[in-house]
Amino acid sequence: EVEALHCIGCGAVIQTTDKAGIGYTPQSALEKGLETGELYCQRCFRLRHYNEIAAVNISDDEFLRLLTEVGNTNALVVNVVDIFDFNGSVIPGLHRFVAGNDVLLVGNKRDILPKSVKESKVRNWLRERAHEEGLRPVDVVLTSAYNRDDTLDLVDEIENYREGRDVYVVGVTNVGKSTLINAIIKNATGDSDVITTSRFPGTTLDKIEIPLDDGSFIIDTPGIIHRHQMAHFIGPEDLKLVSPKKEIKPKTYQLNEGQTLFMGGLARFDYLKGDKQGFTGFFDNHLMIHRTKLEKADEFYVKHKGSLLAPPREDDMDTFPKLVRKEFALKEKSDIVFSGLGWIRVAKPAIIAAWVPEGVDVVVRKSLI
Ligand code: GDP
Repeated sequence: EVEALHCIGCGAVIQTTDKAGIGYTPQSALEKGLETGELYCQRCFRLRHYNEIAAVNISDDEFLRLLTEVGNTNALVVNVVDIFDFNGSVIPGLHRFVAGNDVLLVGNKRDILPKSVKESKVRNWLRERAHEEGLRPVDVVLTSAYNRDDTLDLVDEIENYREGRDVYVVGVTNVGKSTLINAIIKNATGDSDVITTSRFPGTTLDKIEIPLDDGSFIIDTPGIIHRHQMAHFIGPEDLKLVSPKKEIKPKTYQLNEGQTLFMGGLARFDYLKGDKQGFTGFFDNHLMIHRTKLEKADEFYVKHKGSLLAPPREDDMDTFPKLVRKEFALKEKSDIVFSGLGWIRVAKPAIIAAWVPEGVDVVVRKSLI
């Protein structure tokens, strides 16, 4: 029997036949990878080189088996979520599978948060949202995969809570789980050769095992794809707009009632009723925000989406969902959160409407500032 080859990015067994399957690599890339010793599956290759998200088919059955294995093991479960996209980070039913195991909730991408945001509020908010999902984390930790000190602190926290047990790291794709795991390996173990892989029983999914000093492991599980992420509705060129790389600089817009803001063509904010006031947007610094009259907004969108109001681009228009509207009456200082995109702070009482692509969440929270 020929020994299986593994992707050095995600640990999947390399295969050259099923284009939509896990570990797919074109034959030519396989040969090149063997030559250079850097063998990546196509998905990891694209992520590394183009920051591009390619869908991998993981059947629900396989994923359920994976979660069941986690649930049957006495382990610490580390659930990585994207601070900017809690809703797009949720693993449905996770609380049932982890059963009696401790869960440490890790909010990644803290580096994007503006300095003015109080981190204790972010942690409380994540905790509340987790409770709504039935999860009772032992703690909530904020981190950035890009920050060495953060990842070292995270390793300390994990060490603190795992109490000699194995650690399963779970998360949906795009939350930064791979980047975080790589940072942990690099910073905490000082060794890039420590990864081993093994199979989840009854699945074609591989787990990456990072040995710890005491014979336990940090086990990285495959990410599942969350279909309701903003990231899935736009092309690879625009991904940076929903996955900012730099600290966000808030921008304030003075609006009268009857005015509308468009966040590219991805989301819309209508000021329906209230006194003239400043609304502060927390979005990627490059996302174009357009102001218009509410009464003209529908027409404006139809006319300009894909061009002036982009992303989505012309090419994405066929698959881009329609925007759906949700109205909110706000009495206290609140954030309107456009899942995976950012938020708008409303300081004074107001009635507003928020529009997002169908399938993406929009929620209100107490203001983080
Ligand atoms: P995975 O699918 O969960 O493994 O996610 P990746 O590790 O591939 O990361 C998804 C995207 O988020 C990539 O564009 C990363 O560069 C970015 N990313 C990951 N971690 C961080 C972080 O801590 N801060 C910021 N700003 N971006 C991050």
